Amino acid sequence: MKQTHPTAAPILPLPTAELMTELQSYGVRLADPDGAGAQSRRGGAGPSDHKAMTLDGMTIMVPVHTAPAAQSPYEITRTATGATRILRDGLPLAEVSFPRRPRFYDLTTAEGVPYWKLATLHGRDVLATTVLQECVRYQSRAKTCQFCAIGQSLAAGRTIARKTPEQLAEVAKAAVELDHVTHMVMTTGTPPGKDRGCSVLMESTAAVKAAVDLAIQVQCEPPDDDIWFTRMRDAGADSLGMHLEAVTPEVRARIMPGKAQVPISRYMSAFEAAVPVFGKGQVSTYILAGLGDTREAILAMCEQLLNRGVYPFVVPFVPISGTPLEHHPGPNPAFMKSVLQPLAEMVRAAGLRATDIKAGCGKCGACSALSTYEKGIG
Ligand code: SF4
Repeated sequence: MKQTHPTAAPILPLPTAELMTELQSYGVRLADPDGAGAQSRRGGAGPSDHKAMTLDGMTIMVPVHTAPAAQSPYEITRTATGATRILRDGLPLAEVSFPRRPRFYDLTTAEGVPYWKLATLHGRDVLATTVLQECVRYQSRAKTCQFCAIGQSLAAGRTIARKTPEQLAEVAKAAVELDHVTHMVMTTGTPPGKDRGCSVLMESTAAVKAAVDLAIQVQCEPPDDDIWFTRMRDAGADSLGMHLEAVTPEVRARIMPGKAQVPISRYMSAFEAAVPVFGKGQVSTYILAGLGDTREAILAMCEQLLNRGVYPFVVPFVPISGTPLEHHPGPNPAFMKSVLQPLAEMVRAAGLRATDIKAGCGKCGACSALSTYEKGIG
């Protein structure tokens, strides 16, 4: 790479998708954590220990609080003129900005619950909530998904155990009106019942839709009965995520011993039932790369998913502090590129696009460089 003097104008030495891949794999150090946009998330069910940052017009989630991030060659500093800039090994690469703290975070429900404990801003314009913050699989370390921190934010008092439909409707309305969020992700810990949380998601979706015009993705495990897909859609859900996380039996059993009891075959039959309900490309899954699945295994699974009209959102695994995997290394950038670049071609060939998804993680895209590769940038 060409050497650049630190005072020179910033440059993008790598195609954007590759720089995003490196930042998400290595994480970034913050020279001034207090001056870097909205507070970042710690714990929880979605991207955690990350910070949202906007680079070359794209907002991505970058690990900042993880153990590897402390060793990252990337650092964000503030220049004398107040701009924020990414350095690699001390050399400036690009300017970045941070989404500002959402206005709805300053509001509180009538019973005194701060809105930020009910839902948070993800990426640039996504409202995200975990409707049930408790999970049947989180009861023992033997059964818990090893990467998940759903109980940590609850234990730390940063959220509440159950968000009511009325609370979610109130927050969603405010987030649309004050912060212009354009879609919403509703995920849930898995409750003991056979519907895997679908009834709770259905009620919550209906309440939000009655309050405000906002596209919603619901996320759950495959329920006992496929009729729940129709019920959730009829309640107003626009898209659905059912997350495989890992794709090979050995990795599934090791990383998520409880959830691995639901066989891949059930995920596949659930996808086949859900795609006609929500539409081709409106059902997606989240696959964490870097937990032991090979490139070939991930791409083979993605091919099966694409054949069924399912969008395979592959993201780099991020080790979250306090989880059993906090010291597990993340994937290296070369591995991520070797997965995401051909996957973007496969997605295109299947006629799917992140930008066509009505709501949810695949549309947001902040946790992976996949959609940037899809656009042919990198
Ligand atoms: S991709 Fe999903 S989990 Fe990641 S920031 Fe966007 S909405 Fe949140």
